[in-house]
Amino acid sequence: MNASNTSQLVTVVTPLWNESDTIAALAAALRQLFQDASVKWEWLAVDDGSSDDTVALVRKEMRDMARARLVCLTRNFGQQAAYRAGLDHANGDAVIFLDADLQDPPEAIPEMLARWRDGARLVIGRRRSRPERGMRGLLLRGFHVVFGRLTNNVMPQDSGTFGLMDRVVVEELKRLPERNLFLPALRCWLGHRQAMVWYDRRERAGEPKQTYAKLFNYAWNGITSFSEIPLRFISWLGLSLCLFGTVCTALVFLQRVGQWFGWWTDRLVVGFATQTVGIFFLGGVQLLCLGIVGEYLARIYREIKGRPHYLVEQVVEEKRPQTSEVLKHE
Ligand code: UDP
Ligand code: MG
Repeated sequence: MNASNTSQLVTVVTPLWNESDTIAALAAALRQLFQDASVKWEWLAVDDGSSDDTVALVRKEMRDMARARLVCLTRNFGQQAAYRAGLDHANGDAVIFLDADLQDPPEAIPEMLARWRDGARLVIGRRRSRPERGMRGLLLRGFHVVFGRLTNNVMPQDSGTFGLMDRVVVEELKRLPERNLFLPALRCWLGHRQAMVWYDRRERAGEPKQTYAKLFNYAWNGITSFSEIPLRFISWLGLSLCLFGTVCTALVFLQRVGQWFGWWTDRLVVGFATQTVGIFFLGGVQLLCLGIVGEYLARIYREIKGRPHYLVEQVVEEKRPQTSEVLKHE
């Protein structure tokens, strides 16, 4: 990948979930980007079960593009699954992940291409700054710090999905069998020659589609099966009981000290404290541990089930309809 080569194909993958507000701006930005004639471009949009007119708008925008396809999933599978569908359907020698909301600037893509041509197999977009403020900003920043600590910084702290992957990386990612997808870290885990491109993250056009609940699940590697929720409940119950046990211990300790120094004159029920504290505290610890074990068990359960990441309803290619679509209308 050492010189610009117009026979090389670069696929831009954008997941879309109810993005009708942002499609026009996205298509305009892509058209601008595709004017760079040093490579051939392909736009691969993945509709993640939108219930608004995202599909119709995208199809309209795609009509005048040389290479553009839309993969429609059967329902909303989540951002990571949509990106995975993009990986599976992209034809490019390099694949670029770009959120539809343009928070990550397409203007940074030429620099990514340059790093790729220099020999990097993975080019990661790193945020110099991010616009999210308040609780959302705090949680996002907090998550990256905690995630970095827990995983020994498997990926750069200030990076997300925005980035470029060489075909080699794409094929290796596709071979990984795991169901709990966290692509930003997974692609870094692969190793290879990596490069960074710095950018300022912008305000989002339209409402955030990653709700707090979705972000929380993303942080926990995605909850897809409802049978895990009781397991997490056990952890919280355990933690609450631990706290209660600790408060009881502190109270009993204070009473005892008070008796020695004479400022606690009420009679103490002998043996009551030890038992109560012991039952609550140990019960809490046990439930907490059980809950944590349950979290891992749930992950194994999900891997064993081996359900596909997503299901495809149809692949639409505006200029050259594909077999699946042709069959549909027969
Ligand atoms: N998205 C998706 N499925 C979902 C949620 C989001 O495909 O269930 C897409 C969304 O359309 C956007 C991208 O994922 O293109 C990132 O979403 P958003 O900007 O809301 O998330 P954040 O910026 O908070 O990561
Ligand atoms: Mg966004």
